[in-house]
Amino acid sequence: MIKLRYKFFSINLNSEQIILSLIQKLKTNPLKQISKKDINELKELIVQANNPLILTHYNPDGDAMGSSLAFYHYLVKKGKDPVIVTPNDYPEFLHWLPGNDKVVVYKRNSGTVLNAIKNADVIFSLDFNDPERTEGLEKYITEAKATKVLIDHHPEPTDFADLVFSDTSYSSTAELIYKIIEDLNDYDIIDSDIAECIYTGIMTDTGSFNYNSSNPETYYVVSKLLEKGIDKDKIHDKIYDNYSANRMRLLGYCLNKKMEVLPEYDTAFISISKEEQKEFNFSPGDSEGFVNYPLSIKGIRFTAIFIEKGNHTKISFRSKGDFPANEFAEKHFKGGGHRNASGGHSDESLKETIKKFKELLPQYLKK
Ligand code: 5GP
Ligand code: MN
Repeated sequence: MIKLRYKFFSINLNSEQIILSLIQKLKTNPLKQISKKDINELKELIVQANNPLILTHYNPDGDAMGSSLAFYHYLVKKGKDPVIVTPNDYPEFLHWLPGNDKVVVYKRNSGTVLNAIKNADVIFSLDFNDPERTEGLEKYITEAKATKVLIDHHPEPTDFADLVFSDTSYSSTAELIYKIIEDLNDYDIIDSDIAECIYTGIMTDTGSFNYNSSNPETYYVVSKLLEKGIDKDKIHDKIYDNYSANRMRLLGYCLNKKMEVLPEYDTAFISISKEEQKEFNFSPGDSEGFVNYPLSIKGIRFTAIFIEKGNHTKISFRSKGDFPANEFAEKHFKGGGHRNASGGHSDESLKETIKKFKELLPQYLKK
């Protein structure tokens, strides 16, 4: 009898322990729910897909490339032969990513890309919320016969996709890709290539876990990626310690000669003209991260960088705290993005664009 009771008690304790550990797991890993219906629909789409195509935004960044290539490798593992497309070239420091040689750049291979879009039966749009972010492919995507799937973490996606995975609480699209693969019950097929790509997306979109990274879920995902054997220090090195001497000299020049500080508006900005780009042998990605530097100045909570291009000016904005850099970009510079990291452009000259920017500040940041 005692034995039985003891046995009964011990069984009970086991189930109690299991429940307690589950509660603990939920507390530390508050996994956000993706609807089962959507996951099942995605599963079916992947199974049925004959010509899947993965597409990301113009001027692809680490998350755009990391999430797209992770998903590319995933689809290959599911027996597919996906086409992976970027609208234009992306910085050299992303070229080491596994699968980089598979990427088709629209600007250099427009015929191939337009054909692939026409023939695709599923188009996966990654890391953008509006087809306009492809800067030239919007018409073809919208008109394509393919089923469109959006996987993204930007606010307010436009209504262009048939199946939408969009959640701003994810640090990055790459983190969302991890979660989707896990929900598709395919954690086991994540290999080190997929894990490296996902980690790159998370690391770059959080500025090495500096911002957009206060959700415990992000670290749960990182821990699962580390279990796959990635070398996170090496990835950091490949991304952040891979710049040219020219870029370092340009950075020094910008901070010394080109940074304007407007303490009355808690704002600082940098600009780079075409001549300066020539002087420093500028290549895409060289100005990556420059916009963040002035945010380290005491009291500064809004920064911008203006880069003169062919017939327009490309702008990046960063902010601290509540200042909505995305609303500012959307309202005045045909752009958008996240609250603390946004971008846009102006069709006016560099000088005129900066003038307009400065004139807008009193409305927003006057003390
Ligand atoms: P970056 O400054 O790194 O180019 O862009 C920061 C963020 O701003 C990006 O992740 C993206 O969300 C957003 N962004 C940049 N440029 C544009 C743009 O021209 N239009 C929109 N809608 N968002 C942009
Ligand atoms: Mn992103």
